Amino acid sequence: MHLFPFIRLVSACLVAIIIAMGIGRAFAAGDNAKAGTPAIAAAVSVESEGAKTRFKVTLSKAVTAQVSLMERPDRVIIDLPEVAFHLPGDAGRSKEGLIASYRYGLFAPGRSRVVMELTQPALVSGMTTTPDATGAATILTIELSRAERDEFRKAALENSASMKEASAPITPETKDARPVIMIDPGHGGIDPGAAAGSGNVMEKELVLSFAQRLKKKLEEGGRYKIVMTRDQDVFVSLGDRVRAARVAQADLFISVHADSISGGQEVRGLTVYTGSERASDADSARLADRENKADAVAGVESGDMPDDVSDILMELTLRETRGFSHNFASRLVGEFDSVARLNKNPHRQARFQVLRAHDVPSVLVELGYLSSQKDLDLLMSEEWRAKMVSAMSVAVDRFFAARLARRGTAAVLP
Ligand SMILES: [Zn+2]
Repeated sequence: MHLFPFIRLVSACLVAIIIAMGIGRAFAAGDNAKAGTPAIAAAVSVESEGAKTRFKVTLSKAVTAQVSLMERPDRVIIDLPEVAFHLPGDAGRSKEGLIASYRYGLFAPGRSRVVMELTQPALVSGMTTTPDATGAATILTIELSRAERDEFRKAALENSASMKEASAPITPETKDARPVIMIDPGHGGIDPGAAAGSGNVMEKELVLSFAQRLKKKLEEGGRYKIVMTRDQDVFVSLGDRVRAARVAQADLFISVHADSISGGQEVRGLTVYTGSERASDADSARLADRENKADAVAGVESGDMPDDVSDILMELTLRETRGFSHNFASRLVGEFDSVARLNKNPHRQARFQVLRAHDVPSVLVELGYLSSQKDLDLLMSEEWRAKMVSAMSVAVDRFFAARLARRGTAAVLP
């Protein structure tokens, strides 16, 4: 009797279902997202049987789930209100039936998401909820069934038409008289970024704590207004990061990362990237490609980038802005040089989506590589972090001092 009616999806596949049975109280759709503490996901399992695969998650309370499909790569996305995932570290890493792997995490404030990568096209053929053996928790079951490519594509296309912009809106602010610096800790929420130490160290956490430290340091003198694209473990799309910088009318955008690289332990050191249509080298092009996939990792349509440079004025502004970005990158490298081990070629360029605001000087700092044990040790060291943050704040001071001096003689600011 607690079984939710079985849902057969023929072509439509954006399904919002209220899963509130068995608790004796029905939530209206969306209600639960606001209701008190988040549900806890305490266990998860994947079972396959013939052409069907069932994904089961045990939740401490009923939630509203919404399922959608995306192609290239083939994915099933489950949107939920905020859920605290208390799952084993290796959950989602091994392939079972139609599910190649899955990720989970906070997608936006108050919203969580599970993204499953499929081994082949599949449709959601059922979504049910049942109480667990104790009756205290709810088991949400998503059933997938093998489908033809055409069928899957059609369903995914219908989704993308109805889903559009999924991330949180950004509220415009009034411009501070002081220079505004936007710090952008890479990745977050459902997108963990690179990992080291068998998943114990995640790029998203490391760069967030570094960014918080940098914010504090830059705020010390009271000379700058510091804003962050995220200050918690939440997913922010690349487009929203760029938009946030533009809405805040940032004078400088600093994205912070610590990725992995193939090439072994010997590839290490700090690198500063600026945006460019042409990459300075093959490694940088590969890194930018990987970073630009962050939206796909979280199940967000890419291609929703603001600032496609469409006219000559924007083109001119972009050229000038890139000059400022280069200038800041050189200052950063100059300051880092005395305190950090730098990559062979410490200032590189590539087509990073997050560096595309045409009117905000932007750099991306790779603090080091998680794939190098030596870099990892440094990244985890408080002393090293303090030195890096100080070097960055000196570079910021010099950059703005030079700009203000120039501003005194000519209006050259974009
Ligand atoms: Zn990264």
